[in-house]
Amino acid sequence: MSETAIRERIALYGESLHRRGYGCGASGNISVLLDGGMLVTPTNASLGRLDPARIAKLDPEGAHLSGDAPSKEAFLHLAMYRARPEARAIVHLHSTCSVAVSCLADVDPADVLPPITAYYVMRVGRLPLIPYHRPGDRALADVVERVAADHHAVLLANHGPVVAGKGLDAAVYAAEELEETAKLHLLLRGAPVRLLTEGQVAELREVFPT
Ligand code: ZN
Repeated sequence: MSETAIRERIALYGESLHRRGYGCGASGNISVLLDGGMLVTPTNASLGRLDPARIAKLDPEGAHLSGDAPSKEAFLHLAMYRARPEARAIVHLHSTCSVAVSCLADVDPADVLPPITAYYVMRVGRLPLIPYHRPGDRALADVVERVAADHHAVLLANHGPVVAGKGLDAAVYAAEELEETAKLHLLLRGAPVRLLTEGQVAELREVFPT
């Protein structure tokens, strides 16, 4: 796919995510790896109104090559790509239900959401919680890089999810599945829930490795 086509797809997905309430204001960012660099959505840009031609282009070390100034969270994307050589796209959102779950005090930090549905297990797998860091704290990159070596999706405490995929479609679908599962988790809190059993989860992980 040409770089122009990738830019258009980033803008299309940004508009779609924004229209469906996955981000407000200028929150959230999307990146796609290129040969010799990375495209990432600009800082202070609404995902709903991205200009494909102005999406920022960075070199592999994160230096700004062209386009508008990159998202201030681009360093998170670079950390995740370093940890996951097969990843080609990353979506980071401040989507409401995922952020709400990231603020809950009584979750398992090794795996925040329970196995409610098969699709959550297939598309997200395990979801570790990364401790809170203030926006822009570069120490967060080290933690994300370490944890992402074993997980393609992580949840930043009191902040939101970062999800990597082998392509942009996979990253967006996994981020959407995560948000929907967070919503289900909140809807079901306090109700007796029939979760997938350990055996059912093990079978999914064997048949559909994430
Ligand atoms: Zn963020």
